[in-house]
Amino acid sequence: MVLSSVGGMKMIKETRTYQCTRCGSTNIVKNGRTRYGSQKYHCKDCKAYRVLQPKVRYTQEQKELILKVYQERASLRSLRRLFGVSIPTVLRWIQKK
Ligand SMILES: [Zn+2]
Repeated sequence: MVLSSVGGMKMIKETRTYQCTRCGSTNIVKNGRTRYGSQKYHCKDCKAYRVLQPKVRYTQEQKELILKVYQERASLRSLRRLFGVSIPTVLRWIQKK
């Protein structure tokens, strides 16, 4: 995701982390693809072979920025357009506040 300049705000970078869905370890290696094209991995800690499910994470700072923009004037749709953040994700953050 590339975010062009938004009124001088900081760039939001997408961080993809890969974790073993079984044991939570990040000590995993890619292990080919399924016939449907999903990336597979092998976990070196629990020896599992599974399909990789990338997760997008936001830092606390990024969350706060997005929530601040939301409180000021932005609609959820414009947040999605500006930050590439999904609407359910933002709603979850708002409910937690
Ligand atoms: Zn594992």
